[in-house]
Amino acid sequence: MLVLGAGPGGYVAAIRCAQLGLKTACVESWLNPAGKPALGGTCLNVGCIPSKALLDSSHHFEHLRKHAKEHGIITGEVSFDVGVMQKRKEKIVSTLTQGIASLFKKNGVTWLQGRGVLKSADEVAILDQSGAETARVKAGKIVIATGSVPARIPPAPVDQINIVDSTGALAFEQVPARLGVIGAGVIGLELGSVWRRLGADVTVFEAMPKFLAAADDDIAAESYKLLSKQGLKIRLDCKVQSVASGPHGVAVTVENAGKTEEITVDKLIVAVGRVPNTAGLNADGVALALDARGFVVTDDQCRTNLPNVYAIGDVTHGPMLAHKASEEGIAVAEIIAGQKPLIEHAHIPWVIYTWPEIAWAGATEQSLKAAGTPYRSGKFPFMASGRARAMGETDGFIKILSAEGSDEVLGVHIVGPQASELIAEAVMAMAFSASAEDIARTVHAHPTLAEGMHEAALGTDNRMIHL
Ligand code: FAD
Ligand code: NAD
Repeated sequence: MLVLGAGPGGYVAAIRCAQLGLKTACVESWLNPAGKPALGGTCLNVGCIPSKALLDSSHHFEHLRKHAKEHGIITGEVSFDVGVMQKRKEKIVSTLTQGIASLFKKNGVTWLQGRGVLKSADEVAILDQSGAETARVKAGKIVIATGSVPARIPPAPVDQINIVDSTGALAFEQVPARLGVIGAGVIGLELGSVWRRLGADVTVFEAMPKFLAAADDDIAAESYKLLSKQGLKIRLDCKVQSVASGPHGVAVTVENAGKTEEITVDKLIVAVGRVPNTAGLNADGVALALDARGFVVTDDQCRTNLPNVYAIGDVTHGPMLAHKASEEGIAVAEIIAGQKPLIEHAHIPWVIYTWPEIAWAGATEQSLKAAGTPYRSGKFPFMASGRARAMGETDGFIKILSAEGSDEVLGVHIVGPQASELIAEAVMAMAFSASAEDIARTVHAHPTLAEGMHEAALGTDNRMIHL
């Protein structure tokens, strides 16, 4: 059993394969900034974990600066040290990536350092940094989990100095006075928030006329309002035409409503999506089927067109999320071991770690309308929550959508404090085909933010107590 890539898809697949008694090796080519081989992929090294470390540090700073006084906490002038924040982030990353190495040891997974190149459906060559072949490995089954890399756009070539992708934006050593972000997606909003909280004047250029098009319209509208109020300048329907880096900054030329405008920033983040990483895999050479956008084509059992070759995570279709990759990692191992696991792709939660947080799972209200599905809606604002009041975090709401008739929960949408944690209850409810009435009849502790779920569930039947 050979896994290509040790991100949250690949390392989880490898560990689960080993748990199931398969002799397992995992090939990984990642080098950390010190040039040392590292496990964990995008998520641990330059994705989920470092971004959340900086989001948390910058959130603490903003909270102390803007809200401590409301709690009667007198701090004097609050300042920060970006270097310390970055070191803290790096320590978290190294602890966790080394943790994966320990998990490999514990489970008996062999870590093969280098880049894996498919030679056939059952053979992989391992190359070192110079491209020289160091080994050939035969494997009865191969799992491709090579992840994704940032998408590039021709007008904004990334130099990782002034024009950076998410990896560069996680490593700024100073707060840029003026920061531009191309793309008001998940990365743009999260990293834009980090640097705004620390003092940058942040302008986000989004090509689409609609903000957060994948989210429920209500959530997108509320989030737009709240993030704009915080100072993120989100410019919709803005097409970046050219970018020029010079001694006085980066001049970004955008076109909006037929007018061209130039805005100069000190740093520019390009966050326009990610693309599957199949470069160097030799997909063509072994006739591995890729779709028009470069994703490895798989069926619902993670099987590719090649016998005994599977693919999971960002490199294949579906949301590019760590938890989706990991669940597929567990599932593919169990499929290979002859089990029949099921991943409910319809209920994969999305979270955007701004503050307030944004989280959702299941159908949006606009998609239900478009499909002509009759539904009921319950919406509870955090303003009416005792716990949210006590916390001083009253922005946002929870919205539950349930089917007219069966009352089954079809979608849950949250913008508010700790939405990332609250969404778990919604996902669990949907996984068990719960009704809104089931949530309404479930006792929620008081005072908690989760009581908002209870109220929103009551709201689908017009019987909220606290509103
Ligand atoms: P990856 O994590 O990309 O791992 C693939 C691995 O394969 C890499 O280590 C790579 O070096 C290796 N590899 C590639 N080719 C080869 C080869 N030929 N041979 C050997 N090794 C190879 N998702 C969330 O769910 N929550 C978040 O909060 C979140 N935050 C993010 C923040 C940022 C800034 C970014 C960029 C992404 C974030 N994501 C988040 C997305 C998440 O990181 C990805 O969905 C996840 O890492 C995908 O896992 P994966 O295992 O498929 O691929
Ligand atoms: P994204 O798809 O979330 O957002 C990209 C945005 O850029 C879109 O709104 C798109 O319309 C816009 N865009 C594309 N081309 C443009 C252009 N030329 N000019 C202006 N705007 C343009 O992608 P992302 O923010 O780069 O993140 C990539 C992926 O990483 C996400 O889709 C997600 O899967 C994953 N991620 C997840 C999390 C999380 O779960 N919290 C955090 C970060 C990243």
